[in-house]
Amino acid sequence: MQVAVLGAGVIGVSTAYFLAKAGAKVLVFERESQAGMQCSYANGAQLSYSHADPWATYGNVIKAIKWLGQNNAPLLLRPRVDPDMYIWIMKFLRNCSQIKVDKNTQAILNLGFYSKKVLHELMQEEKIDFEYSTSGILHIFKHAKELDQCQKLFDKFRNMKKEVEFSRLSKSDCMHFDNSLEHLMKGRIGGVLCSADEIGDAFKFTQELVKITERMGVQYNYDTEVLGLRKNKAAVTSIILDDKQIEVDAVIVCLGAYGNLFLRRHDINLPIYPMKGYSISIPTDSTSICPKVSVTDQQRKVVFSHIGNTFRVAGTAEFAGYNHEILDERIAPIVATSKKYFPKGGDYSRYTAWACLRPQTPHSYPYISNTIFKNLYVNIGHGSLGWTQALGSAKAIADLTLKKSPELNLNPYIINN
Ligand SMILES: Cc1cc2nc3c(=O)[nH]c(=O)nc-3n(C[C@H](O)[C@H](O)[C@H](O)COP(=O)(O)OP(=O)(O)OC[C@H]3O[C@@H](n4cnc5c(N)ncnc54)[C@H](O)[C@@H]3O)c2cc1C
Repeated sequence: MQVAVLGAGVIGVSTAYFLAKAGAKVLVFERESQAGMQCSYANGAQLSYSHADPWATYGNVIKAIKWLGQNNAPLLLRPRVDPDMYIWIMKFLRNCSQIKVDKNTQAILNLGFYSKKVLHELMQEEKIDFEYSTSGILHIFKHAKELDQCQKLFDKFRNMKKEVEFSRLSKSDCMHFDNSLEHLMKGRIGGVLCSADEIGDAFKFTQELVKITERMGVQYNYDTEVLGLRKNKAAVTSIILDDKQIEVDAVIVCLGAYGNLFLRRHDINLPIYPMKGYSISIPTDSTSICPKVSVTDQQRKVVFSHIGNTFRVAGTAEFAGYNHEILDERIAPIVATSKKYFPKGGDYSRYTAWACLRPQTPHSYPYISNTIFKNLYVNIGHGSLGWTQALGSAKAIADLTLKKSPELNLNPYIINN
């Protein structure tokens, strides 16, 4: 069976791995010159299996309204003529009811912990270095009320998924646990440590997995934009490139934030909106003082992760359409925050800034699904958790495509459910 995987981000490459492992002939098409150059390039590095609250909650809507008009707000909505954005926001609001929040949370938890299992199995089978660490993730708070709410939330998550492990830490517990947090914890009340969570470099993982899959026979076609699909009434027959068409038995769309632009040309319209985020990567050496544990500052919505020789600080969400521009007004607050809380976090004179588009769905989990065409599948819409959910999604879509029964119940992730 010849399967075309469209897109070589962490999702596409992981998908190619499980297809090849099951014996399929796999062709990957990527318009960049190498794998992982878009959203999987410089993300927050968190494998955040436990932190499963969907973005669509009334609490977040209230926060977003308060942030309106603030250029350095964690979530920035610039009013613009963009019907897709308003349709997406309407669908987002429809996901804020408690029933939907609970359903979405369960779907996020199930996929996250399934992904953890699959990642661990892969690490047993393959020698793959991606700066993996079982550091855990510490969520810190300014006010006792927020910390109490977070503890309640994690209690709920643990009731929904027994694998969630967490402990509440006071301010001094946090500083004792990781003494690099001295400056960060000033003005903070304490935190919740999720010890089942991990970190790793998604870009390095993607690139290493490319090498492994190439040895398995996967063929990567870079600098190759897929322009469309040739179909008959029921199925895709070939993929259309600039200079030729290639016949395939099945196609899996893993085009991240660009997935819906591609699919809607083929009568499939999914609510995936590009949600811009930023990060900075600061080079570190043995003299740098950065956190061993990965930290999420819940007030500023910024994450800090030390991976290999890089101190990564990432965050913010912005409705900006398909605009990749790195704006100083969005980067400056991240640099300032990082310098303030981790003054010796690395060589700030050499930091690099990055911006990219999360493929965000209103319900905060992806589509892992078949479609109206019997051999066309999608693995897209992973939003802010694509690295966390990559391996589980990839294994599940490979199973679905190859007509094996997926271990994960795919009902929530199937289109139209
Ligand atoms: C600031 C920030 C921080 C984040 N932090 C975290 C985190 O800590 N933990 C976490 O789990 N997730 C995090 N994420 C989310 C995560 O990075 C994404 O969900 C994930 O990378 C999406 O992977 P993907 O493979 O779907 O998309 P991508 O990596 O964008 O891959 C899609 C690929 O498709 C290619 N493509 C598009 N159109 C075409 C075409 N027509 N033909 C050929 N190729 C095409 C693109 O070039 C691209 O390489 C973060 C995201 C951002 C922006």
